[in-house]
Amino acid sequence: MTNNRERILQLKKDGTLPAADLRALVCELTADEEELLYASAREVREAVYGKAVYLRGLIEFTNWCRNDCYYCGIRRSNRCADRYRLTEEQILDCADRGYRLGFRTIVLQGGEDPFFTDGKICRLVSGIKELHPDCAVTLSIGEKSRESYQAYFDAGADRYLLRHETSNPAHYRMLHPVELTIENRKRCLRDLKEIGYQVGCGIMLGTPGQTADHIVEDLLYMKELGPHMIGIGPFIPHKDTPFRDEEPGTLEQTLHLLGILRLMHPHVLLPATTALGTIHPTGRELGILAGANVVMPNLSPAGVRDKYMLYDGKICTGDEAAECRRCMEARISRVGYEVVVSRGDYA
Ligand code: SAH
Repeated sequence: MTNNRERILQLKKDGTLPAADLRALVCELTADEEELLYASAREVREAVYGKAVYLRGLIEFTNWCRNDCYYCGIRRSNRCADRYRLTEEQILDCADRGYRLGFRTIVLQGGEDPFFTDGKICRLVSGIKELHPDCAVTLSIGEKSRESYQAYFDAGADRYLLRHETSNPAHYRMLHPVELTIENRKRCLRDLKEIGYQVGCGIMLGTPGQTADHIVEDLLYMKELGPHMIGIGPFIPHKDTPFRDEEPGTLEQTLHLLGILRLMHPHVLLPATTALGTIHPTGRELGILAGANVVMPNLSPAGVRDKYMLYDGKICTGDEAAECRRCMEARISRVGYEVVVSRGDYA
């Protein structure tokens, strides 16, 4: 193929392209090409999901973590992090409030905190499902054994988010200490899929050392995995991590990738992330206009929100859940889409 317009139309038609053509799309687009990419992404997304935007209520229930990822503000070596854990009662209370605000998916996210044993996680999952059987429960608590994933699934968990962060082994090594490997990350994603979860992978854009070739590798890996959800957002440095002086990822990079992913995965659940809203005042709205169809407002109690600091400048840390819900609805409707009360399962 000789030009990007052709590549975009071909990608829309076939859902994939040779690596060299994906690379061209990842690298640079003119304003006209961007417009074509986003319009195509919206067309594909609306053919599957219409104008609906699904809500996920995020409960950040612990910022203790045994891992030491170089990019992350709650890494174990960060002595400045003010650590907290929510109690079971607090977590169920957050879920309950979320339910009353119209959330039908509750996401439990946290650091890899050994305090929350499999038994405790199972109790949380089954507790939420008992109170609200019409809610989906999503876990985002990192790398576990297959047996643990099976136990959470048997307790009622529906979905699991585990970004692979980068599928290139050398790049993975630049972002993580040696005890973490891309092989184990991929093993986890395979296990989760086989067990029957709706599975989410994903990457950050603009992490130190990331190249266009890495992003192409990620696109091809994700095509092969066939995830139900893909979480992507810009890398944003955190002042108390080894990456404090690195450049953040950009709005353009992230929007391009959202558009490309929508064309490659017409049915995928694709959030416009908080990190995207952090690097630009209307980043999440622009994400929706580039093909995203999910937003994840925060349900964590206001008192701990500013402690789940993965990166600097995170938005909405001072708001109450009800405020976030209202604000999100207004933002989405302003760009012509509609927040719906629904589990928002993979179509
Ligand atoms: N412990 C869980 C949850 C991690 S936090 C797990 O391992 O899956 C969720 C996501 O936030 C991470 O997967 C990572 O992609 C993103 N994240 C972490 N630090 C970040 C930073 N500095 N900038 C942007 N995103 C970040």
